[in-house]
Amino acid sequence: SPAFDVAALRAQFPLLRTHPGLIYLDNAATTHKPEVVLDAERRFYETSNANVHRSAHRLAHAATEAFEGARRTVARFLNAARADEIVFTRGATEAINLVAHSWGRSQMRPGDEIILTTLEHHANIVPWQLLAAERGLTLRVVGLLPDGSLDLAQYHELLGPRTRLLAVTALSNAIGTRPPLGELIAAAHAHGARVLVDAAQAIAHEPLDVQALEADFLVFSAHKVFGPTGIGALWARAELLADMPPWQAGGEMIERVSFAGTTYQAPPYRFEAGTPPLAQAVGLAAALDWLSGQDRAALAAHEAELCRALERGLAELPGVRIVGTAPGKGPLVSLAFDHAHPFDVAQFLDARDIATRVGSHCAQPLMEALHLSGTLRLSLCAYNTRAEIDAVLAALADTLELLR
Ligand code: PMP
Repeated sequence: SPAFDVAALRAQFPLLRTHPGLIYLDNAATTHKPEVVLDAERRFYETSNANVHRSAHRLAHAATEAFEGARRTVARFLNAARADEIVFTRGATEAINLVAHSWGRSQMRPGDEIILTTLEHHANIVPWQLLAAERGLTLRVVGLLPDGSLDLAQYHELLGPRTRLLAVTALSNAIGTRPPLGELIAAAHAHGARVLVDAAQAIAHEPLDVQALEADFLVFSAHKVFGPTGIGALWARAELLADMPPWQAGGEMIERVSFAGTTYQAPPYRFEAGTPPLAQAVGLAAALDWLSGQDRAALAAHEAELCRALERGLAELPGVRIVGTAPGKGPLVSLAFDHAHPFDVAQFLDARDIATRVGSHCAQPLMEALHLSGTLRLSLCAYNTRAEIDAVLAALADTLELLR
């Protein structure tokens, strides 16, 4: 899109300035942070630092207002109906564990079923395995078609009277597939099941509207959407949160404590034991405000254009196979090589200051289904450029020639 100025966008990222030669294609692992996010955290410590909710002084009120303001920003970003539907967590992983521990343990009975997909990140598999082992649940797994899209016919067959939950990614971190959430959620609801959407990858690339989506739970991590590490969020429908018991316990989450018995706060505080990540919440809000201030359609078009250019160039390289070619996939490319080990390729690329990732991408069941030990992943984001794509293609051509 001619309206999109990638140079102006890049100039806002200090790390890209301190590493001028770097070609960073590991955005699915974590994104870099714009200056406004770093500034927001620093300003919080300089002007508003205090512990929240309890202390009786003006600085504490300022800190509390900053923290609760961040919660409202997350709610607005996801178009949640209410700010108290947002629970701050350490990230997507902790948010999924929260749902498994609290909602899962209180709602699931032996013989109940959870549907997962072959695409899931370990963070959206292992918490359910632990819950299943503890509660005598059955996990059912939706398989893939050859292009890496979900086998929807199988999904509809797996849904049944014992299905209680579908836990599904909005965008596969390993091969880029975007499952058809609308169809999946409608079918799950028709069977009385709840749906958890893992938006860890989707959050940086597409607007997410939890009301339009009609999901029940949605999780993400700030660090994958231009925000700080150490914080993320769970969105859940207010009526679900209202019935969920505490999971972690301590200060902040209680209403009244006595040795005779303890009562708990209303959501979301019931699920936020201890001092929360205050500066990180402010940084997350700055990241979401920053992203909301961009022309998101132009960003997505830019990413898609780069991804198409990358895929066109890769198709001309002998001995390279793109793993995952589902229509509408997100801006990342996973590669397998006929005559080279992905780890060796990544080392050669790193020597040229090209940052990629190799391995199973925390999706070992997916790699097993694909009969691969791992792939080399190039994951894009809005600050990548056409020149970087051309440089990567040239470096890959040289590398594969050398490794032949
Ligand atoms: N789900 C997906 C799809 C992911 O890509 C990731 C991070 N790689 C996670 C969950 C877990 O996120 P975090 O490690 O930030 O908790």
